[in-house]
Amino acid sequence: MNQNAKKVMVIGGGIAGIQSSLDLGDMGYKVALIEQEPCIGGRMAQLDKTLPTNDCSICILAPKLSDCFRHPNIKIHSLTQVQKISKKEQGFTVTLLRKARFVNEDLCINCGLCVEKCPSKVLDTFEMKMNKRKAIYLYYLQGVPAIMAIDKEKCLYLKNKNKEKRVCGFCEDVCQHNAIDFTQTDTNYTLESDAIILAVGSNQYDPTPLYAYGYKKYKNVITGLEYERMISASGPTEGHITRLSDKKHPKTIAFVQCVGSRDVNTNPYCSSICCTYSTKHAILSREHDEEIQSSIFYIDLRAGGKGFQKYIERAKNEYGVKYIRGKIAEIKIDENENPILFYEDLDTFDVKSKKVEFVILACAMIPTKNSDKLAKVLGIELDEFNFVKSSIDSPVNTNVPGIFACGACLGPQDIPHSVINASGAAAKASEYISRTKR
Ligand SMILES: Cc1cc2nc3c(=O)[nH]c(=O)nc-3n(C[C@H](O)[C@H](O)[C@H](O)COP(=O)(O)OP(=O)(O)OC[C@H]3O[C@@H](n4cnc5c(N)ncnc54)[C@H](O)[C@@H]3O)c2cc1C
Ligand code: SF4
Ligand code: SF4
Repeated sequence: MNQNAKKVMVIGGGIAGIQSSLDLGDMGYKVALIEQEPCIGGRMAQLDKTLPTNDCSICILAPKLSDCFRHPNIKIHSLTQVQKISKKEQGFTVTLLRKARFVNEDLCINCGLCVEKCPSKVLDTFEMKMNKRKAIYLYYLQGVPAIMAIDKEKCLYLKNKNKEKRVCGFCEDVCQHNAIDFTQTDTNYTLESDAIILAVGSNQYDPTPLYAYGYKKYKNVITGLEYERMISASGPTEGHITRLSDKKHPKTIAFVQCVGSRDVNTNPYCSSICCTYSTKHAILSREHDEEIQSSIFYIDLRAGGKGFQKYIERAKNEYGVKYIRGKIAEIKIDENENPILFYEDLDTFDVKSKKVEFVILACAMIPTKNSDKLAKVLGIELDEFNFVKSSIDSPVNTNVPGIFACGACLGPQDIPHSVINASGAAAKASEYISRTKR
């Protein structure tokens, strides 16, 4: 069999989709890697360090990003989403929608001149809206493909309806490579695929509706993902731990577990990774500033990964992290915007309070936005929480033969597990193709 002729589509360019693509590309399959954002990388690109080794996240990810980009068998389709799919006797026909980038991918050299000149500022979603970027932007510093994109909604030229009068266009004027192309439009196209791997990951639960925690009401209550960007040297505060109310460096931090997890009113399941990532946050806080005292408020600690329990012991013994078994009833603030946590001590059942300077909420991992719509398009079943349904004996199979799934779209999981089942999904896709397509 000539494997080179066989094609696999991987939907989602996070660490799971990247790993599946690399495995399949190395096996000789032609891979179309579909990513809705301007660059691949997913959540891992936003992380500062990875637990339990505290290795730099982007240092592990970056070589895989460039391997993917350079791989002769992998084509990255950025700013692209699946619109329609039809099952054929042999494989699938997939209709895709590619959003206009307004920058010619073959001409842009990522020199950044356009960004300097662009006058339009926008809240940066990669930085969890704690920073601003320009209307023309590189999704993140190490992003791949390393090509600018223009935000249609915020670009002064593209928003201008009066075609008689040219507004802005500074990026076009300054670009010496003629890379700006305002004539680009969103385009539909189809690709044939012999198998599909779904790797659309997960989102972070928005804790705003849980009023008792005061997220969005109090500036010094932020989420775990916001904290990841804050402690990252390339993030909005260049790695300085900074209260949003007064830019002071806090000396006491409380981490609140199970925000939107293990609660029948929100998501009844455990998000599996947060006990350990809050431990990581507490360790890294102390490494940033040895005066910082961290307390982790938990219901019970779930550290179900290789080396995770030892990591928690290290946090206690070497970094002085306090673990308090207590359920937070409410967070209030004092006149200096210091959060005060009111909680029930689950060991003594006493109601207690603790004043700190900063609070980090460990929010649930929830299915990716619109994953239900995508599942409908693909015809795959979801579980009761809207993660991809799989079974114990075939964890990467979906109900549709030829469509496999991996990573956090299967349910909350860490990077090593995502990589394991990404390789599993690639192997299963290969086996499926060689069994059915001769
Ligand atoms: C605060 C925080 C800290 C963490 N810390 C750690 C840690 O230290 N160590 C660790 O092991 N794990 C950690 N994790 C978990 C880790 O982020 C996940 O395990 C990992 O990102 C899962 O990878 P993934 O590829 O499955 O999903 P993702 O990283 O979510 O990637 C999914 C990709 O699919 C794309 N996508 C989504 N929908 C579509 C669509 N319809 N079409 C096309 N593309 C789409 C997305 O844009 C994204 O690029 C942490 C998580 C959080 C929230
Ligand atoms: S669009 Fe032009 S100016 Fe902007 S980074 Fe690319 S090559 Fe440089
Ligand atoms: S046209 Fe103006 S606003 Fe639009 S991206 Fe270029 S410089 Fe920015």
